[in-house]
Amino acid sequence: MRARPFPKEWLALIQRHVVFSRRLSATDRAELLGHIQVFLAEKRFEGCGGFAITDEVRVTIAAQACLLLLHRSTDYFPRLLTILVYPLTYMAEEKRQVGEHLWEEGTVSRLGETGRRMGSLVLSWGAVKHGAAAPSDGKNVVLHEFAHQLDFENDAADGVPGLATREQQLAWAEVMRSEFASLRAADESGIPTLLDTYGATDPAEFFAVSVEAFFEQPRALRAHHPKLYAELRTYFQQDPVEFSAER
Ligand SMILES: [Zn+2]
Repeated sequence: MRARPFPKEWLALIQRHVVFSRRLSATDRAELLGHIQVFLAEKRFEGCGGFAITDEVRVTIAAQACLLLLHRSTDYFPRLLTILVYPLTYMAEEKRQVGEHLWEEGTVSRLGETGRRMGSLVLSWGAVKHGAAAPSDGKNVVLHEFAHQLDFENDAADGVPGLATREQQLAWAEVMRSEFASLRAADESGIPTLLDTYGATDPAEFFAVSVEAFFEQPRALRAHHPKLYAELRTYFQQDPVEFSAER
């Protein structure tokens, strides 16, 4: 399936809308297109809130998600069956703890979500399009939600994806523990951070937010968080500095 000729119309859509793809090496681009073919054959898309799924929607999501698969042997987000797409942000009921015994209940707007037992992943098309067009602003809802799917591959939603060796697991645990603690501390004291402070929520969000920064602002991440950058580079077997549009 990876070797099948890639539809010309899809390629034109990717070149037009998915900015990072223009900077990939020829080998990486060919690998990406192969993964997109498999991804689109395996995953089901469903429009929500009156949204119609088009080829532009499918390939724009697939191209960004498949960036996470390059250079690794992978099973294409095995826990994920369906991708639900809303036109813009969508509303969800949420209970949020705001104090030790204080919960706030209400409707919040969301750009995306996924869960370990959901089998699905929800995205706002507005946010997907923005993420594809602005590859260096540090925010990308597709990379974020699919990073959660990588986290789920070894069963737990704990911010630890499937790592090859025991040695790698130990190094990962040590680096993530200290980086997560410093993001929490910075968040509490209001110190500006490169990483989105949403990552201070828990280790799973920390991983997802780190993945966004790794692909979108690799130079800055490497400069300010060299150990975190190194762990992600080992896991992804990619060095996004090589194709980043980040200044
Ligand atoms: Zn998240």
